[in-house]
Amino acid sequence: MKAAGVVAISDDGRPVMNARVMRRAMEFARSFDLPVIDHCEDLNLSAGGDMHEGYESVRLGLRGIPASSEDVMVARDILLAQLTGARFHVAHISTRNAMAMVAFAKQGGLPVTCEITPHHFALTDAQMRPYDSNFKMKPPLRTAGDTSAVVEGIVGGAVDAIATDHAPHPGSEKMQEFEKCPFGILGLETALGLALEHLVHPGKITLAKLVALLTIGPAQVLHLDRGTLRHGAPADVTIFSTDSAWTYDVNASFSKSRNSPFDGHTFRGGPVATIVGGSFVWKRD
Ligand SMILES: [Zn+2]
Repeated sequence: MKAAGVVAISDDGRPVMNARVMRRAMEFARSFDLPVIDHCEDLNLSAGGDMHEGYESVRLGLRGIPASSEDVMVARDILLAQLTGARFHVAHISTRNAMAMVAFAKQGGLPVTCEITPHHFALTDAQMRPYDSNFKMKPPLRTAGDTSAVVEGIVGGAVDAIATDHAPHPGSEKMQEFEKCPFGILGLETALGLALEHLVHPGKITLAKLVALLTIGPAQVLHLDRGTLRHGAPADVTIFSTDSAWTYDVNASFSKSRNSPFDGHTFRGGPVATIVGGSFVWKRD
């Protein structure tokens, strides 16, 4: 698989519950110098929950997914990374404790990295539109305390990348009762606008830092020679504005589905054109 171009292995969507299996996976991955990208969730603690467990889940009468469901797996896999020497990457980190543990592991010199999604720094569980399945994802939207902790992780350098966890689901699946519909939302087209709104415009990070989190940050996690404008590098480029106003219309989206909580949101700044392999593939009107 590595010879065929595999750049990482992952259990995203189906977390490995057996620690011995994860240990073996990390040992194999290390022997090929591949990172292990984990969806950190203890399914026994999640126990069929639909949103973050806390005041809001009680208020709405929905089953909760505790923050500890993520925390115990991040702790386990940091320890297994220490045991095996494998590169361990936390997908879509969302809790205060997980962020603290990743920062601690990095300080200790372990090869641990993490990413955060735009919706996890842009929204909290209290901001969900009740029973709207466009707010249902895993990990679930967390509390304001968790959100501020992961933003502090970005500011302080403990977060390596912004990644969208882009998850299209057709309306036939998503437009059901909250308990029945699948987890996940769109993310690609709103990622840059949300990052500008929540990170750059409020002055939390510089524009250069944001660009790094979307380009060389993920490239370094995967040990890929990408994400630069260097002569000879792959010409995959997003041209963007930091200031122009645009409104996201999910029905005009290029994604195959319509499951976004940001439909109708007006952004300040966002993509203007995208170039893939040296050719323009999209331009804003
Ligand atoms: Zn996942």
